[in-house]
Amino acid sequence: MSFTLHGIGVSSGIAIGRAHLVSHAQLEVPHLEIPKAAVPQEQARFDAARDHVRTELEALSSHMPDKAPAEYEAFINVHRMILDDDMLAGEPRRLIATQFCNAEWALKQQMDALLAQFEAIEDPYLRERKTDVKQVVERVLAALLLDSASTAAISVPEEGSILVARDLSPADVILFKQHRFASFITDLGGTTSHTAIVARSLGIPSIVALHHARELVRENETLIVDGSHGVVIVNPDESVLAEYRLRQEEWDLERQKLRRLTTTRAATLDGTRIELHANIELPEDVVAARSSGAAGIGLFRTEFLYLNRRDLPSEDEQYEAYRSVAEAMEGLPVTIRTFDLGADKALETVERVAANPALGLRAIRLCLAEPQMFHGQLRAILRASVHGRVRILIPMLSSRQELTQTLAAIDLAKRSLDADRISYDPQVPVGGMIEIPAAALSLSTFTQRLDFLSIGTNDLIQYTLAIDRTDDAVSHLYDPLHPAVLQLVSGIIQSAHKAGKPVAVCGEMAGDVTLTRLLLGFGLRQFSMHPANLLEVKQAVLKSDLVDSAQIARRMLKTDDPEKLYGLLEKLNA
Ligand code: PEP
Ligand code: MG
Repeated sequence: MSFTLHGIGVSSGIAIGRAHLVSHAQLEVPHLEIPKAAVPQEQARFDAARDHVRTELEALSSHMPDKAPAEYEAFINVHRMILDDDMLAGEPRRLIATQFCNAEWALKQQMDALLAQFEAIEDPYLRERKTDVKQVVERVLAALLLDSASTAAISVPEEGSILVARDLSPADVILFKQHRFASFITDLGGTTSHTAIVARSLGIPSIVALHHARELVRENETLIVDGSHGVVIVNPDESVLAEYRLRQEEWDLERQKLRRLTTTRAATLDGTRIELHANIELPEDVVAARSSGAAGIGLFRTEFLYLNRRDLPSEDEQYEAYRSVAEAMEGLPVTIRTFDLGADKALETVERVAANPALGLRAIRLCLAEPQMFHGQLRAILRASVHGRVRILIPMLSSRQELTQTLAAIDLAKRSLDADRISYDPQVPVGGMIEIPAAALSLSTFTQRLDFLSIGTNDLIQYTLAIDRTDDAVSHLYDPLHPAVLQLVSGIIQSAHKAGKPVAVCGEMAGDVTLTRLLLGFGLRQFSMHPANLLEVKQAVLKSDLVDSAQIARRMLKTDDPEKLYGLLEKLNA
């Protein structure tokens, strides 16, 4: 039966492929059906994996160093108890027998159920134990996945398949860079969540907030994903497939045409030069940035170097990563943002329970709370500064004290490099992200002491409108055209210009081609966006008249009537 699902398209284009269901935050866990006759064998695999983990825990306990804190022994004992508890020992065996699924999937199902129960516990100590459950399950999963005698062949999803998930973390999505999926669709998520942002960087059509896709779609069903319109067609008939294949070809042709603009200088009709920079998450993204013709890296989200791993990247590892980008950009500016960890990009090793993660220990707050980690990163960036035109960008600044502490930390990193006789660029520019309304409203604090500014509209909108950018329940309220947002963005641009400080927009607004002329009209001359959007924005810039844009943008600032606003935006883009 064919049916259609509607969500929010976060990355445009059309994909046609077979559905591959994945479980939340556990891309590696395959979901396989097993024949009834294979149930005892699969249960035996599961038992063997648990035995393996028990031996591992025993070995850990018997090799405990003398000086190990007493809690270590207790910690291992808790893990042993969890491993042998019926909730993890018995229930997955029953699921294998009733659902005819592989052991990994059964275990993952049971873990999800248990974690949901833990969430509902009020006692913070007991709630924290969910971390232990997760760790034990991960150990058993690792043992299962490494098990070469596996009866159920572990399938790597076919190239070109479409991932269907309830939710994916940014860390999950970044793993997609190593696979060749055609698209992904999720039940949860908002348009400017980091998950959506990474999806855009992959340049594959993606849709979030579908609500029931994970339940309604079956493994291997044919799907059409129309990322431009937020529509998924499940089991389309031949005529619909033919129609979408045609649209897909047209889309590809459009993209090819855009490629002709790669080396064209970005300037408006009157010849004003506009700088179009690229946002990247990993050093290898620099290839896409270069081939899009970006005039620099406007935002390197370095926190992605810290995700999907249990250890922290060393100073040397980070230095190599930053150096490779600086060198690949051959003298073009490379803006390295210090890690913006926390909230939806939490470290695997630091399990903090925050009631409101977006308002919690995130970005510069976390950097300042973890001085050792911050120091290592600052040294790595400074060391890389001799290999190109490196700039340091600080996320989520909100106050003068934070700025003072940050500048002192940079100074300390410089002094330590001096002491080690390691060279760096002493004039390396330091900029700040303006993404908290408090910073936007006290801009002179930042223009006085920083070399440049970059407006993070994703967070600026989140914090101005009090809308969690990851929560699809409120995503319809997330509005870049809200009068308060427009006032703040145009105000920041004007104040920065008055103070003589360069200002860019590096949030998703910069890559939204329907907003290009509006931002030009506000006076913006530097944009930073995912390479996938750059040529389309360049095309809009080339056709823009600055005088007209400024005039309509001024009118847009004077109205709070959404209908009028959209009417003016249409006029601006005509
Ligand atoms: C922003 O907030 O607009 C931004 C660019 O930073 P991030 O999306 O990584 O929070
Ligand atoms: Mg931000």
